[in-house]
Amino acid sequence: MKPRHIRILSIDALSYWMLERYLEEWELKNFQRLKREGAFAEGMIAPGPDATTPPAHAALFCGCVSQEHGIYSFEEPVIENGIIHPWKKKLGFDATRLKAEPLWVSFLKSGRKVLLLHFPLSMPLEPYTSSACFGQDFSENMVVIESFSQRLAPEFCRKHEQGNKTFTITLPDNSRIVLPASAPEKPEVQLFPSKLAGILKMRFSPDTPEEPDFYFGTSIHKIFCNHEELAQNYFDTLGPFIGGGAVYSYWKNRLGNMISRDGSGKAELRVFETLEKVAEHFLRAIQFGIQKVQPEVGFYYFHIIDLALHLWRGLIDPDCPGSSPEIRGFLLPLIRKTFVYADQALGLLMDATDKNDLLAVVSDHGMSPIEKTFYPNQLFLEAGLLKWDSKKKEPVLDQTYALYHQSNSGYIVINTEARGGIVKEESKEIIIKKVYEVLSPFLGTALEKIEMVSEHPEIPALGEIYLTPRYKVSLMSKVEGEIMEPGHYGGQHHFWQESEPMQAVLMLKGPGVPAGVGLGLRSHLEFAPTIAYLAEIPKPEKARCARIRF
Ligand SMILES: [Zn+2]
Repeated sequence: MKPRHIRILSIDALSYWMLERYLEEWELKNFQRLKREGAFAEGMIAPGPDATTPPAHAALFCGCVSQEHGIYSFEEPVIENGIIHPWKKKLGFDATRLKAEPLWVSFLKSGRKVLLLHFPLSMPLEPYTSSACFGQDFSENMVVIESFSQRLAPEFCRKHEQGNKTFTITLPDNSRIVLPASAPEKPEVQLFPSKLAGILKMRFSPDTPEEPDFYFGTSIHKIFCNHEELAQNYFDTLGPFIGGGAVYSYWKNRLGNMISRDGSGKAELRVFETLEKVAEHFLRAIQFGIQKVQPEVGFYYFHIIDLALHLWRGLIDPDCPGSSPEIRGFLLPLIRKTFVYADQALGLLMDATDKNDLLAVVSDHGMSPIEKTFYPNQLFLEAGLLKWDSKKKEPVLDQTYALYHQSNSGYIVINTEARGGIVKEESKEIIIKKVYEVLSPFLGTALEKIEMVSEHPEIPALGEIYLTPRYKVSLMSKVEGEIMEPGHYGGQHHFWQESEPMQAVLMLKGPGVPAGVGLGLRSHLEFAPTIAYLAEIPKPEKARCARIRF
């Protein structure tokens, strides 16, 4: 039977292992119910080499690998006229680069009304509309609400000041927003209605009474929707989109000393309070999607677990050198709350779902704990392969032979003349050999693999050499005076797709799906064909994998 409604919830970084481990203990009632009433994969593995959010979503929803769908990493080297820039980077969330049809297009082609809510790869809109990259202009049946890509200003964290002083934020259109330099006592939203944007201002008490209060303001994002009256309605109903909370300020130590560096835990509570505001916004957004948009097919996204695990995934591991029973006792209840919010998001969709509807919960990746950071560019600097401008914090490209690309997507790029650099074509092999010589001593400590991209067809050709760090080691492109140092004990999801912490989630219920059945370990590439089969539509064009058989 053809399902009437199809609802797909993508919960960023929900790891199968964690969900299973804490399903009962954390009383995740809606996940428990979905598991009873539907079928569930016992882990989902993203295709390699990169499991960051954009390529992992593209794999799930297009049913093919990076070379075929054209999305490579969270940040990618810039390619201009077919030439890789040795240093410049860009974000990987770009629908104009999708070379394969995603599942939402398959639904649109079948005449279904589709909503994409803050969903990766839904923007920009043109491929789906005016430029008709997928054969038609789908404007009429497609509703996209998206704000991540609509950032007008970054978050700030400053000292709370008494009195009537103000400060100014300049927006990309050169308009200015004047904000009071004194933070409100309680969280307060200030709206900029003409921009369909606003800011959430928060005040946190300091660690000691003699210090000034912290004044935090969220990043400013416009509410974008391709149906104008709906954008206005969203803004009037939900208020401003508040981005990623105070995550950046926390990393920059602006919210106080981190718990992993002898902090009291107050910095964590401060950032967590902002994450809860993010979660509340997403819950209300999902409700808005279900009730106000009422699509036949809805793609919903939920973000807060990813944010929290990036901060603390390492620290909740008992064998993490930076952890302790006290730290875990402090952080696990916070992580639990993020899972409870995700459970509530699922509950909203479950409540709207009856036996004629199809519901799927999926995640793009899990999260690996991080213990150390390795800086390949520091090594290249010391070996004379890289010249670094420490003032500008960038390489001196006319004196650099090879570098670990700033996109931090695993690639070492040779700075060839074709790329505007200094390495002649005939000397390329010599430089590659030198890079191997410099890196090889770190095999087994910092690095798991050093691979020639040309010898591995599964690695997209965005550089000459591809690095896979060892488990729990993070790579960074910065030059900071260390080659390897203990990490922040946070989390990352790039490599090691087959490891337990990285395996993702798939849960389904609806017509044609048996109840309470485990489906074993599955691949991301099976997701789109399976949903297409259950929804009785053709699978996405480039999805080659067979569907899951129940
Ligand atoms: Zn993700």
